[in-house]
Amino acid sequence: MARVLLQSICKNYGDVPAVRKLDLEIRDEEFMVLVGPSGCGKSTSLRMIAGLEDITSGDLWIGDRRVNEVSPKDRDIAMVFQNYALYPHMTVRENMAFGLKLRKLAPTEIKKRVDEAAQILGITEYLERRPKALSGGQRQRVAMGRAIVRYPSVFLFDEPLSNLDAKLRVQMRVELARLHQRLRTTIVYVTHDQVEAMTLADRIAIMDNGVLQQLGTPHEVYHRPKNRFVASFIGSPGMNFLTGHVQATNFGHMFAGAGFSFSLSSEIVELLQNHRHSEQLTIGIRPQYFHIANEHDRGTVESVAEVVEHLGSEKYVYFRLGDTLVTARVAEDHPVRAGDPVRYRVDNSRVSLFSEDGNSIFL
Ligand code: ADP
Repeated sequence: MARVLLQSICKNYGDVPAVRKLDLEIRDEEFMVLVGPSGCGKSTSLRMIAGLEDITSGDLWIGDRRVNEVSPKDRDIAMVFQNYALYPHMTVRENMAFGLKLRKLAPTEIKKRVDEAAQILGITEYLERRPKALSGGQRQRVAMGRAIVRYPSVFLFDEPLSNLDAKLRVQMRVELARLHQRLRTTIVYVTHDQVEAMTLADRIAIMDNGVLQQLGTPHEVYHRPKNRFVASFIGSPGMNFLTGHVQATNFGHMFAGAGFSFSLSSEIVELLQNHRHSEQLTIGIRPQYFHIANEHDRGTVESVAEVVEHLGSEKYVYFRLGDTLVTARVAEDHPVRAGDPVRYRVDNSRVSLFSEDGNSIFL
């Protein structure tokens, strides 16, 4: 069992809190991604799990052992860093074998493990090369190989793909997913890249300012964000936020803000009637939930396309509602150009609602 459990973990640097009361259970065999903007405390959390950073307060468990005071080498973990830190004067094989030699494993066992890891990672043909004769992606694989040969119960990854170019990053992401399926080892993975988080994770822990904001599957954090921070951090292009209030009109209920209004479904109106809320609300609409209106649609939003971006498979249309610049995602074959009038229906069943304090009001 390689469950990792963080109970009320705090880390202060002097007076400055970096991680505040973090409660997090990483299940056996789970791929957990810690994600958040720079400085949110994700690396510090990972480094505490690794034993590279003291824990100010709280309890850390790996398996059934409380490991707060256990040294990194005795924690049964292996860490892969952003800068792979390979030894330049050693071959790939020697780099991968190095840690095992220090542990005085038998040469036959070392060879078996290195060959096996090299085969999993597709680097067998490079085993006798030096790191400088490898590409960035190959070096990253060697760094992973060095971790794999240790047969750890937990892998810790600290932004392992951030030094690779965009195309290679996508490729390595797929390989990491495959690696996890094959090894079924518990993984804790830190990144600032929400796309990496969404594509790799079984569950995502989203942090901001040292505080865990939401823990959930990629589907949950995308479709049911707990607050505005999570809603704006996850998804690309980002969610649109419109602030206004509910208005009863002869044509039914509308959501009205400065310079725009659109109709609200009876489900949302009913929900709001049963929920105490501030008069001022924010509605979050992801770009794909603006639908091109037909002539029968009422209560639509109307504006002028300021910019149209072509992505090949789809288009992003940027337009203004009041002062807010809004993005809609439409099909590539939709004929819209900058300067054209646009009219969209808001898919009310897909919106998020936020009260003034930024917390979600769940439908
Ligand atoms: P992230 O990995 O999310 O970018 P970190 O965990 O590295 O964030 O840092 C969290 C906070 O702790 C930041 O405000 C950072 O400036 C601070 N911090 C990190 N390491 C140290 C350190 N060694 N000394 C003082 N402050 C630090």
